Amino acid sequence: MKIAGAGLSDRGRVRPHNEDALLVDLDHGVFAVADGMGGHAAGEVASGLAIEALTERLARPRVDGADVVEMLREAIEESNRRIAQRSEQNPECRHMGTTVVVAVAEGDRYWVAHVGDSRAYLIRGGTLHQLTSDHSFVNELVRLGMLSREQAARDPRRNVVTRALGSGTVVAPDIVEGQAQPGDVLILCSDGLNTMLEDDHILELAVAAGADPAAICARLVDAANGAGGEDNVTVIALGFAGEPAGQP
Ligand code: CA
Repeated sequence: MKIAGAGLSDRGRVRPHNEDALLVDLDHGVFAVADGMGGHAAGEVASGLAIEALTERLARPRVDGADVVEMLREAIEESNRRIAQRSEQNPECRHMGTTVVVAVAEGDRYWVAHVGDSRAYLIRGGTLHQLTSDHSFVNELVRLGMLSREQAARDPRRNVVTRALGSGTVVAPDIVEGQAQPGDVLILCSDGLNTMLEDDHILELAVAAGADPAAICARLVDAANGAGGEDNVTVIALGFAGEPAGQP
C-alpha cells in the first residue's frame, strides 16, 4: 500500500500564539499532533517537547517485527517525562501539558495512540469513523449518559481534558490498531478542527478534496477559520492507495 500524507497547522483567528505542534514523517510512517496548554509560552513548550520526544523515538528505521504498540507507549511516556521535568525546572511552565495523537503506518497496517482530546478519524467508503474517544470531562459525561453529544459540543467545560502529558504521573494512552484498505483516509487533528466543524462537514470537505492529503488539510483548516477559527487548528491527512498487502 502506498501512503501519501500532509499536515498543516494554523494559529486560527483568535489566539495570539499557535500552541499546537505536528510531526509528518512519510519516510518512517510516523505522524503526530500535539495540542499544548498552560498559558503564555508554556503550551508551545509542552507540545514542542512532546513532538521532539516522539520524533527521536519513532521517526527512525524499525526492525521487522518491532512491537509498535510498545514503542508508542514508550515514546509517549518519554514525552510525558520530559514535559514534567521541564515543568519542575521552570516555574512559568508549572502547569503546562499537552494532548497527543500519534499514528504509525506500515504497509496496510496502522496504529493510533492518543492522550487527551486530539482526535483520529478514518474515512472509509464515504463514512467518517472516529477512532479515538476524547479523554475529556464532557465525553465522560456522555459516556455516563448525562450529556448528549450535541450538548457536549456546546458545553462550556468542553475544553477540560481528563488525561494529558506532563502531569508527572504515568499516563496511559489508548491505542487502536487496524488494517487499511485502498482509498482509506486517516485524519489526525487538534480540537480546533472538531470544535469548529461538525463531523458531517469534516467528511464532506475531505471527500470534496479528493485523494490529495495536502488539499484535505488546506480545506479543513480554511473551513475551521471560516467558522470563526476560535482555536489553533492542526490537521494531518494520510491517504492509503494501491492493492492491499498480500494480494498480487
Ligand atoms: Ca486546542
